[in-house]
Amino acid sequence: MRYSLKFADKSTKTTLSKSMSEKRTEIGEIGEFGLIKKLSEGLTFKRPDTFTGIGDDAAVIKASSDELLVTSDMLTEGIHFDLSYVPLMHLGYKAISVNVSDIAAMNGTPTHVFLNIGLSNRFSVEAVEELYKGINAACNDFNVELAGGDTTASHAGLILSVTCIGTGPKGKIVKRSGAKKGDIICATGDLGAAYLGLQVLEREKAVFKQNPQMQPKLENYQYLVQRQLKPKARMDIIHELNELGVVPTAMMDISDGLASELLHMSKASGVGMKIFEENLPMDGLAYDTAVEFQIDTAACILNGGEDYELLFTIDQKDHAKLEKHRDIHFIGFVQDLELGNVLISKQQNEVALTAQGFKHF
Ligand code: ADP
Ligand code: MG
Repeated sequence: MRYSLKFADKSTKTTLSKSMSEKRTEIGEIGEFGLIKKLSEGLTFKRPDTFTGIGDDAAVIKASSDELLVTSDMLTEGIHFDLSYVPLMHLGYKAISVNVSDIAAMNGTPTHVFLNIGLSNRFSVEAVEELYKGINAACNDFNVELAGGDTTASHAGLILSVTCIGTGPKGKIVKRSGAKKGDIICATGDLGAAYLGLQVLEREKAVFKQNPQMQPKLENYQYLVQRQLKPKARMDIIHELNELGVVPTAMMDISDGLASELLHMSKASGVGMKIFEENLPMDGLAYDTAVEFQIDTAACILNGGEDYELLFTIDQKDHAKLEKHRDIHFIGFVQDLELGNVLISKQQNEVALTAQGFKHF
């Protein structure tokens, strides 16, 4: 998908729907029940384990013999997203994807999502439909069912809270606490791009504020912007690990930056982490953009957030099974706790890892 965003002035009531279509229907015209009906109209149950979805007092889902996984994440306007450059469709996609990512990080498979939404009167029916387009697209991509939720008015802009449930086979759930000395530390995909995408969007927003005639120039940064706006949970990796017969010893998703996640894993597992700068995966465009913004490339990887890749450790005996995988990178080793959490720089200096992950407060 290409990003040619139009920046919108969110103080005016009309822009949110105008940028998508000319029509604007107030939510009050059809009411909460009308809205829920409209949003659920096109939905058909895809999953055989959904007995009752939207429309009753509670969803009815077939219980499985596997372990049940439950996770919840909340996104609030102005804290987690800025609607002047985040299209509602992408926001919907991201809200589902970040929850799926948490289920993936337990080595599980997501099955159902529940969506609680707070809406102010700035939002038209068309705007909510746009949001749901993204939600439905993500549900299709990850084979999860939107099985219910709640809708309420909000004075503080848009609030989205998603709860995702999933299953994991008994004995194969992977926690943060299982890393042991000698294990190999792995990271998927590439890191730092989502943070740089945010820098690009913020820069273009600042330009727009100075001069509203200027529309954003994003052509050269498509990959970065996409990584920021529409992250895709790595369920593909979970399926592949399963096919290859690899159960990581510890795993988590990378939402706050690699350094912060490594420190969490270190603490939970009671071990130290040693990673090598030269092994950290970064996309070429991300690298060039970091240079352009004069931000240290390692800092983007270590402290930039929202990559939604997976960080995991494997026993050395599993190394050969993953060696040829294009998208799994071996970035270091688990060591004794006393040796601490360190990065070996390209100049072979040992640097202590510190958490400067995303802080909302
Ligand atoms: P109740 O008053 O019993 O909570 P609601 O009128 O809030 O019922 O919801 C009716 C049905 O619509 C329920 O099945 C609920 O899960 C679903 N629902 C409500 N809001 C949403 C939403 N934003 N997204 C998806 N489903 C929703
Ligand atoms: Mg309700």
